[in-house]
Amino acid sequence: MDLKLEGISPELEAELKRNVFTTTLDQVKAWARSNSLWPMTFGLACCAIEMMGTGAAHYDLDRFGSFFRASPRQSDVMIVAGTVTKKMGPLLRRLYDQMPEPKWVIAMGSCATAGGPYVKSYAVIKGVDQIVPVDVYIPGCPPNPAALIYGINKLQEKIRYEARTGQGVTQQ
Ligand code: SF4
Repeated sequence: MDLKLEGISPELEAELKRNVFTTTLDQVKAWARSNSLWPMTFGLACCAIEMMGTGAAHYDLDRFGSFFRASPRQSDVMIVAGTVTKKMGPLLRRLYDQMPEPKWVIAMGSCATAGGPYVKSYAVIKGVDQIVPVDVYIPGCPPNPAALIYGINKLQEKIRYEARTGQGVTQQ
């Protein structure tokens, strides 16, 4: 936001512009939220192994302020990591509904994104976006931990972008 100053010397104006910034409360909240995302673990198949690896010491997801929670009531991000079967679909939706607002969803891997290798199976949902709104899609079978971290970084950008512009966007 540009600072409008009148009736002060040019030197003071230049000094203030160098040292003072203004923003909105929404942008501050989005900045704080994007740096403290707490994902609910939703490991359904092989992609979950990569998700666990992301949280372990080598990739250390904690350094982005993200801590896995075992309860939907303590989470604001659902990482769907694996194959979503038609039996699991309603349970996934119930857990999503139990998460407090604001909340986001990451579809990790080709199964969660579009059915993956099981796209012809009668028992598999061809994309978790048929059940819950997805904010970030991460391709791969499976995506490695670096890809998941990239997806989480994209979600952080999206949260800040939406607070700044008021416009929604889906990342891939
Ligand atoms: S996308 Fe590949 S690795 Fe991930 S759950 Fe499906 S089959 Fe497994």
